[in-house]
Amino acid sequence: MPQPRAPFVADDILLLGPGPSSVSGRVRQAMAQPLLGHLDPQFVALMDRVQADLRAVYATQNAYTLPLSATGSGGMEACLFNLIEPGDRVVVGVAGYFGERMREMATRAGGEVVEVRAEPGRSLDVDALIAAILGGPTKVVAFVHAETSTGVLQDPLPIAIAAAEVGALVVLDCVTSLGGLPVELDAWRIDAAYSCSQKCLGAAPGLSPVSLSARALARVAARARRAPTWYFDLNLLSGYWGGERVYHHTAPISMVYGLAAALEEALDEGLGARWQRHRQVAQALWRGLDALGLHLLVAPAQRLPMLTTVRVPDGVDELAVRRALRARHRLELGGGLGALRGKVWRIGLMGDGARLASVERVLAALAVELQRDPQVALAAARADLR
Ligand code: PLP
Repeated sequence: MPQPRAPFVADDILLLGPGPSSVSGRVRQAMAQPLLGHLDPQFVALMDRVQADLRAVYATQNAYTLPLSATGSGGMEACLFNLIEPGDRVVVGVAGYFGERMREMATRAGGEVVEVRAEPGRSLDVDALIAAILGGPTKVVAFVHAETSTGVLQDPLPIAIAAAEVGALVVLDCVTSLGGLPVELDAWRIDAAYSCSQKCLGAAPGLSPVSLSARALARVAARARRAPTWYFDLNLLSGYWGGERVYHHTAPISMVYGLAAALEEALDEGLGARWQRHRQVAQALWRGLDALGLHLLVAPAQRLPMLTTVRVPDGVDELAVRRALRARHRLELGGGLGALRGKVWRIGLMGDGARLASVERVLAALAVELQRDPQVALAAARADLR
């Protein structure tokens, strides 16, 4: 007789890396509810609610706003593969690893890509980007709002204004920003945005909220050839998430429950209060890291609240510290990506994890592992919050 195998039991790790972030008990409970059919009337009503709540967090009236059954990269692929036609001039801002991924996808979609690059740790030079947009018959402009690989923020508005001048569509990556920073699709005139469920929205990974303007949908409808993707064909998808609710694929029901609960939490808290919470805990973290003698990669004016990149001090083994944090302190931080591999730690304070208690745990743990004084760091972190 084979012995029954012990069930998998996940360690309880506080996730303070670049995502996924730890989720609340309410979100976990929502995901444990009984499954419904993906065309069940109760589930269809939940779909309506999720779509309305996504419009609220994106600050948009876009009818076409839905959670794709995919991670953030799926949202990126859906937007770029539907909006770019072979030969289109596409300007891509590359300020890090995820801008680079957009560039790669835009190329695979057949775009004639003009890239504008930033140094690691800096935001894109807006004048250079605008010159690139105005420098030819640009059809699409794509860039990242909150570059998770470096911790840098990009102001979308001046770029979107330049794009509008030449009739180019703007694709904005909101994977890290949505739920933690103001995102205002309609006010900024963004044509296509995508995000993820697992960062500042506070749900588990697996869904990618996307939103498309009427201008973007008209471009998709006018394509000479259908988009070279079936699963992410935005026209086909609208059959399921649009008015008809006809089968396209089997939606990940439990993920949608979880996202619905996370959106309720975010909107109950109030978006303004949520953005402020992310900013306040980030500032506490920065004060504490400074007190530990650690240096941040990004200048304050360009720094993201939800993702802080910390330079690894000379002589310290980046990976060994992260392993010790996991083993001894039950904490996850991220390492560097691309050019920053081995050179930085990435500390995420996102969604339900963006709390002073998280800041205290990470500062205390880093102090122990780097043999520095935790009390000084904790006092600095708490200074403005008492
Ligand atoms: N864009 C940005 C800015 C990201 O940070 C990430 C992931 O961290 C992605 C895209 C890709 O998202 P996912 O890993 O959910 O596919």
